[in-house]
Amino acid sequence: MLAYLDTQLHHQSSTSPTSNPTSPTSDPSFGSDFGGLIHTRPAAVIRPTSSADVSAAISLGLPVAPRGNGHSVHGQSQADAGVVLDMRSLSLTSPPRTIILDGLHYADVSAGTLWSELLAWALRAHRMAPPSWTDYLDLTVGGTLSNGGVSGQTFRYGPQISNVAEMEVVTGDGCRHVCGPENEADLFYSVLGGLGQFGVITRARIPLLPAPDMVKWIRVVYGRFEDYTSDAESLVRRTGSDAFDYVEGFVFVNSDDPVNGYGSVPLSSEVGFDASRVPTGSGPVLYCLEVVLHYREGEDVEKRASEMLSRLGYVRGLEFSVDVPYVDFLTRVKRAEEEARTNGSWGGPHPWLNLFVASSDIADFDRRVFKEILKDGISGPMLVYPVVRSKWDPRTSIAVPASDIFYLVALLRFSRPHPGGQRVEDLVRQNRQIVNCCRTNGYDFKMYLPHYKTEEDWARHFGDGWSRFVERKRRYDPMAILAPGQQIFRKKGMMS
Ligand SMILES: Cc1cc2nc3c(=O)[nH]c(=O)nc-3n(C[C@H](O)[C@H](O)[C@H](O)COP(=O)(O)OP(=O)(O)OC[C@H]3O[C@@H](n4cnc5c(N)ncnc54)[C@H](O)[C@@H]3O)c2cc1C
Repeated sequence: MLAYLDTQLHHQSSTSPTSNPTSPTSDPSFGSDFGGLIHTRPAAVIRPTSSADVSAAISLGLPVAPRGNGHSVHGQSQADAGVVLDMRSLSLTSPPRTIILDGLHYADVSAGTLWSELLAWALRAHRMAPPSWTDYLDLTVGGTLSNGGVSGQTFRYGPQISNVAEMEVVTGDGCRHVCGPENEADLFYSVLGGLGQFGVITRARIPLLPAPDMVKWIRVVYGRFEDYTSDAESLVRRTGSDAFDYVEGFVFVNSDDPVNGYGSVPLSSEVGFDASRVPTGSGPVLYCLEVVLHYREGEDVEKRASEMLSRLGYVRGLEFSVDVPYVDFLTRVKRAEEEARTNGSWGGPHPWLNLFVASSDIADFDRRVFKEILKDGISGPMLVYPVVRSKWDPRTSIAVPASDIFYLVALLRFSRPHPGGQRVEDLVRQNRQIVNCCRTNGYDFKMYLPHYKTEEDWARHFGDGWSRFVERKRRYDPMAILAPGQQIFRKKGMMS
C-alpha cells in the first residue's frame, strides 16, 4: 500500500516529490498522539515538502489527516487506514520569512512550524514576537490555528485564531487557495478553529509586535472563589496601560501535597508557601491568580505592579514574584516537560478535559466540580481563568459560550501509568461526569479541543453554528476526506 502511495505521489506532484515517506510500521507514533488513549494504523505516512505534495496526497482519495506535532489527546490527528500528513516536514523546507505591510511586521511561516521555533526566529531576526500564545510552545502553527490557541494573552489580543492575516490552504478537492479577511474570507474563517475539516493549512501569516527583554511574573492566592473571579474578571476587562500583559489562574488543593497543593504556587524554590496565611475556614481548594507585566522602556514596573496589586483582594502574604527573561516565561512549560519526562508522566496517557464555561455558571461549577469532584486534585494543573468574548471572531468555526466573559477550564492530568497512577478508565469516567454535570445543570458551556462521537453530540456542540459547519464542509471538503480523527463526518462512500 505504501509503495503504491509513494509511486502515485511521485507521478502526481507537480513540484518537488514527497520526501522520505515512511511506513506506518516503522514509526508507530503516527498511529497515536500525546493523549495515548486512541491507537490506529494509518495506511501511509507522507511527508509533504510543498502545497503541491499536499494536493497530491489528497487526490489519492483516501482519508487524510494533517498531523502537526501530534499533541491532540483524542486521536484528532490520526487516520485509521488513511494517510497521515506529517506537517512538520513542511517547516524543514520553508523557514519563516519577514513580511512588512503598511509598516507592520508579519512572519510568513509553514504550518508545520512549532510556535517555539517561530519565537526563536522572531526574537533573533527582529526582537519581536507574536502577541498571542499557548502555554506550551511545541505545538504547530497549523495545529493550534485549527483549534483556537488560548493562553494568558487571550483576554488582550484574542486567541491565536484572531491573530492571523493570511493563510495558504489546500481544500478537500486538492485546490490551493490563498485566503485572508479580504480574500476568500469565508474559507479563511472556516479554517480558523475548523478542526482540520475544511482544508490543510500549509502557510500562515502571523503578526509580530516588539518583544520585551524581561517580564515580572506574579502569583497571588485567594481563599474564596468569588474574590478570585471578581478580581480576574475586572483584570480582563481592562485595556491599554491599565491592563496586565497576561492573566491566567488555577485551582490548587488546600494541602501540602507537593503536586496538587501549596507547592504548585511559589515561583522560585527560594521562597516557601506560608500555609499559616491561608484564611481559617477556607474550603478544600484555593485559587491562584497569575499575572505578568512586560518591562517597557522608561517605565517603573515595580511601582506599576504594586499599584495594580494593591487594588486586588488576594490573601496578603501569599504573593510570589520573579523577574525572568521573556523567552524563559514563554517557554516555562518546557521545563515542566523535562521534569515530567524524568518522572514518567509525560509519556503516560493524558485523559485531559478542556471546557469553556460562561461566567454566570462558573461559581456553580466551582461548587460542584472543583470543591467536590476534584477536591483532591488531578496530579496536574487545573486552570481556570476568564477571557473576553469580544476578542473571538464569530466568523471563525470555533464554538464558544454566548456569555461576554467565559472561563477556560483545563484539567491537565499528568498521573503516572497504572498501577503507579490511577486507572485511565476512571479518569475518563470522571471527565464524563464533569461534562454531564455541565449538561444537567444547564450551563452555558462548550468543550474546547472537542471530542465527540455522534452527530447528535456534534450538532449540540455547535448549536446554532451546526448548519454553517455542515455547509462549510459540503463546500470545501465535499467527499469528507479531511481530518477523519475528529469523527465529525464520515468519508463519502465508506461503509459505516
Ligand atoms: C502539553 C500541552 C499543552 C497545551 N497547551 C495549550 C494551551 O496552552 N492552549 C491551547 O489552546 N492549547 C493547548 N494545548 C492543546 C493544543 O493546542 C492542541 O492539542 C493542538 O491541536 C496541538 O497542536 P499540534 O500541532 O500537536 O496539532 P495536532 O494534534 O497534530 O492536530 C490537531 C488537529 O488539527 C489538525 N491539523 C494539524 N495541522 C493542521 C494543518 N496544517 N492544517 C489543517 N489541520 C491541521 C489535525 O488534523 C487535528 O485534527 C496543549 C497541548 C499539550 C499537549
